Amino acid sequence: MIDLRSDTVTKPTAGMLQAMMSAKVGDDVFGEDPAVNELEEKIAGMFDMEAALFCASGTMTNQIAIKCHTQPGDEVICDRLSHIYQYEGGGIAFNSGCSVNLIDGNYGRITAEQVEAAINNRNDAHKAYSKLVSLENTANRGGGSCYNFDDIKAIKKVCEANNLLLHLDGARLFNAIVAKNELEKDYGKIFDSVSICISKGLGAPVGSVLIGTKDFIKKARRIRKVFGGGMRQAGFLAAACMYALDNHIERLQQDHYHASRLAETLRQKDFTGEMYPVETNIIIFQVKGKYTASQLAEVLKKNDILAIAISKTQVRMVTHLNITSAMIDEAIEVINHL
Ligand SMILES: *Cc1c(COP(=O)(O)O)cnc(C)c1O
Repeated sequence: MIDLRSDTVTKPTAGMLQAMMSAKVGDDVFGEDPAVNELEEKIAGMFDMEAALFCASGTMTNQIAIKCHTQPGDEVICDRLSHIYQYEGGGIAFNSGCSVNLIDGNYGRITAEQVEAAINNRNDAHKAYSKLVSLENTANRGGGSCYNFDDIKAIKKVCEANNLLLHLDGARLFNAIVAKNELEKDYGKIFDSVSICISKGLGAPVGSVLIGTKDFIKKARRIRKVFGGGMRQAGFLAAACMYALDNHIERLQQDHYHASRLAETLRQKDFTGEMYPVETNIIIFQVKGKYTASQLAEVLKKNDILAIAISKTQVRMVTHLNITSAMIDEAIEVINHL
């Protein structure tokens, strides 16, 4: 099977399993797991931020960040397609008691002007306090789109002028950094908190990291415990994440190249309608003519290719660590014959 449903389907490599087997572990709730401590120090250092916290999932890191940054009744500003709003089970309301101000962005990206226009007047008793802006890079439901860094800087300016905190859902931040040739440290300078998934394109079985100031992470550690996310000998998982950071970042270029080859093939087909710009490892396109989206997914499946119909009219394909160039050749061959 050539599994293009998601970059979360990856299996640990032999090298990663070896790293997990030889991890030095302890009780992380006591702060005594060397492998977890090493991972947290490493990633904080990469971003030139003070501290980091290892968590079970990207939903957990995002939700902890939102909880730490807000009080019930505050409002979070984000794109309408944001994972924090669409795919985290209503967690912003459930965990933090906050409302959301949704912006219609450009493939999941919002602008400084849009943020400014979404800020409520603090002196108007009718309005929730605007407190936090959350960006997503790459934007999942925007087809893996990336921000231009200048646009992020402009948003930061608006946040500073209006006392707003700025969070980054960087589930696939390394895809953006590789695609745009950026520096981790530049992100560390701008954001109050950054969430990164190591279990997506980087290929770890489990794990996300939240990065911020010492004070923020101290608070986040407490919230993680309240959310039931305190893990004990988590170093076995942290060692897999450490291995991923050491070995699987640069190769993301390969995933992006594979996605561009698939996209080019799909664009030639008469069943392909509008396709989102393909900037990283995600392809989202309209299906028209002889197939519906689910019929196309079915036909592909009969040919040992898995893709997802993400709506009645759209199919998504995602490239990742376990997709080889030979698999892309094979997938192209199949698509050419549909
Ligand atoms: C996958 C993802 C997350 C976190 O998902 P988990 O499955 O909880 O790890 C957060 N944001 C975005 C944009 C994602 O794609």
